[in-house]
Amino acid sequence: MSLEHLEAKARETVALYEFPKAATLPLLWLVQEDQGYVSLESEAWVAEHVGVRKTEVREVVSFYTMFHTQPVGRRELKICTSLPCLMRGAGEVMQTVKDHYGISPGETTEDGLVTLTEVECLCACEMSPMGQLDEDFVGPFDPETLEATMRAAEEDPKSAQPLPEPDPYITSDGPILSKHFDAPGGTWIEDYIADGGYEAAKKALGMSREDVIEEVLNANLRGLGGAGFPAGRKWSFIPKNSEKPVYLVANADEGEPGTFKDRYLMERDPHALLEGMLIAAHAIGSNKGYIYVRGEYFRPAKRMQRAIEEAKAAGWLGKNIQGTGFDLDIVVHRGAGAYICGEETALLSSLEGGKGQPRLKPPFPAISGLFSCPTIVNNVETLSCVPFILKNGAEKFVEIGNEKQGGTRLFCVSGHVKRPGVYEAPVSITLRELIEGFGQGMREGSKLKAIVPGGISARVLTAKEIDVEMDFDSIMKAGSMAGSGGVMVMDDSTCMVEALASASRFYAHESCGQCSPCREGTGWVHRILTRIMAGEGTLQDIDDLVSIATDMEGKTICVFADAAAWPVQSYIAKFRSEFEEFITSGRKIEKEEAASCPS
Ligand code: SF4
Repeated sequence: MSLEHLEAKARETVALYEFPKAATLPLLWLVQEDQGYVSLESEAWVAEHVGVRKTEVREVVSFYTMFHTQPVGRRELKICTSLPCLMRGAGEVMQTVKDHYGISPGETTEDGLVTLTEVECLCACEMSPMGQLDEDFVGPFDPETLEATMRAAEEDPKSAQPLPEPDPYITSDGPILSKHFDAPGGTWIEDYIADGGYEAAKKALGMSREDVIEEVLNANLRGLGGAGFPAGRKWSFIPKNSEKPVYLVANADEGEPGTFKDRYLMERDPHALLEGMLIAAHAIGSNKGYIYVRGEYFRPAKRMQRAIEEAKAAGWLGKNIQGTGFDLDIVVHRGAGAYICGEETALLSSLEGGKGQPRLKPPFPAISGLFSCPTIVNNVETLSCVPFILKNGAEKFVEIGNEKQGGTRLFCVSGHVKRPGVYEAPVSITLRELIEGFGQGMREGSKLKAIVPGGISARVLTAKEIDVEMDFDSIMKAGSMAGSGGVMVMDDSTCMVEALASASRFYAHESCGQCSPCREGTGWVHRILTRIMAGEGTLQDIDDLVSIATDMEGKTICVFADAAAWPVQSYIAKFRSEFEEFITSGRKIEKEEAASCPS
């Protein structure tokens, strides 16, 4: 099939990057969007345009889950069966869809219309149980919405009517991050500017780089992607007078199950992120920024692109911004389905056009990052806090938080609460206040059993451990981590064996495979838990799980293996008797092996 009609677009795409190879993923997307899948012929075409061997492109295609190497149906219906969706009935949803179409995940209906795909977390847990029809998120599923979705999937994509969108539970009056969240269509630049937008950037561009960094340092802004590292300190690591170009990368590869805040920031308040990036770029001396958006986030990527065009037209991006002599270009770069790309060095490998595999540190990205140049990678939420700090001063930001961490956070509350949603609150809020206040308590007739307070990787807490503030240090003191702000709430109907088995499937699926303890460990943990779920476990399995998890910790290139070990250790430490009872009673939970899990 000829790809000649894509030539101009391909050249335009390659020109956005310093090195052609970095355009590998965008060109693969271009081909897939045009042809429906990536054929061997298309891989060769991409290889030629980015100047690499065909085998390198093959390697990249095989690493990411979103590229199809065979023709698929005209519509793709993805059903999420990750832990937050599982807790709210994803198993039954998947069964209904399978029965309706008479196909299993990975298959296409005989008429070639619908391909069914089982996916790990799409980071829309406020809509659980949910899925994605082509580019659009759909849910929460009840019998009616599921039926409507399946009917919509059978329509011709060109004439299909968009499904009604749910009205999410969110704050839209938070002091820093959510004040523009009441605009479902996204805040346009006129409204953003009318509300004082870009005033902080104007102020920052008139300050020295050192003073901007000092202000952010004083604000005690922590990295809100999960690590909690102070943002101002990270910026200060960029070498002064670097002879190499300096890059700024916004990490929008939101993938931690239970987390869904960056999506709202990008969809509803994209200029706050752009303004934050402009201030950060000035502070570190960068004239080029990238926003790495996870592949499944079609709409956030489009909203960011729209905002970039607006900002360019208004003189807030591009050359000689507002006559200050400062230049900044920002490129939106889409991932293609790999959780590990949220790890900053994996993200950079991916952005360079390779497999998203983490790199050994040191050197840290601030010294040698994108294209071996000094690079700062900051999470979307972190960068979106920066305009407030510059505009109102560090003191005000500190005042809103507590003595350990400045400002607010967007907390993503999911699971068995009455109102799953995205809520902005000072970091001094307690877990109890989040669950009982914003979440409005447990769903009818149920009691709180367990909470994962910071995304699926965080150690589980029990119902007795919720009187803890949500800043990084307090949650760590309580034995878990604040991570990405994903608070997963489980009630007394939750089977902890099934919950851990679901988490283990995620890790086995997402390990990049470079390190033996991680690749083998996550596979073994998943296999043992699958056996236990099938009613064939032994009590020895429980000790084996703990032992494997312990052997995974601290021995690998990145912290993914540690993150995979923590749930195993903590679920068993806190709910051991439930695991023992599950095994000795001969109980079993019928669960089909995920198609993509290692055998
Ligand atoms: Fe890859 Fe796991 Fe090693 Fe991280 S720890 S580099 S995810 S194999």
